[in-house]
Amino acid sequence: MTDFMDRAQALEQRLRDQALTVTTEGLALPGLTVCEDCGFPISAARLEALPSARRCVPCQDQAERLARGYLGKGA
Ligand SMILES: [Zn+2]
Repeated sequence: MTDFMDRAQALEQRLRDQALTVTTEGLALPGLTVCEDCGFPISAARLEALPSARRCVPCQDQAERLARGYLGKGA
């Protein structure tokens, strides 16, 4: 069990490092747009479909859902 927890922790750490690298490198690269909410790069396909996109799909989805929740209750 300890072994499992160790591996889970190591994996989590690696993912965090990866995300950090992607974010910092993404910000340093002109032309690569990162999500303003989570900092991950927005996929090229999404930017092609919507060049003005400022969020990745899951964050945009969540933002729209929140906006609907606040503004359009019952509508
Ligand atoms: Zn995002």
